Amino acid sequence: MPATHQKSRPFPWRCPACMMDEVVPSCVPYQIDIKHDGVLHAVSLPNLKVPRCRSCGELLFDDAADEQINVALRELLQLLSPEQIRAGRVQLGVDQQQLANDLGTRLETIARCEDGSHIQSKTLDNLLRVYFAVPGARAVLQGAASQIGVQPTNAG
Ligand SMILES: [Zn+2]
Repeated sequence: MPATHQKSRPFPWRCPACMMDEVVPSCVPYQIDIKHDGVLHAVSLPNLKVPRCRSCGELLFDDAADEQINVALRELLQLLSPEQIRAGRVQLGVDQQQLANDLGTRLETIARCEDGSHIQSKTLDNLLRVYFAVPGARAVLQGAASQIGVQPTNAG
């Protein structure tokens, strides 16, 4: 695992903007435009928990703050959560590599969707929902995956 830049150091932290030891946990209304699938989405968090400098107002985004923003974006776009993707896959007894193969995507993409570090496209989200819910769709996709590189035959 990569080292995180914000360990559980005791507050207050030193503010990188004004150099005062005034950064403490806070809860602020926050809005940000995030590009997803090539479109900007206005994400609004009425109560973002984020370390903030009491002196100059600088916000110090840590992993927890980033995750809150990701959760809000997924809710706004009505995308499956990492937990829902993992649960759906485990329930079917397929591993990440198999799921990636069946959907025609990469193992890394599935792994990152499940650990929350990547937010899937709406297209992939729809595909995941159909895959999890419809056995016939899985059969079709698995058939398509097994035919990669195979020439279609005329056998009727
Ligand atoms: Zn400051």
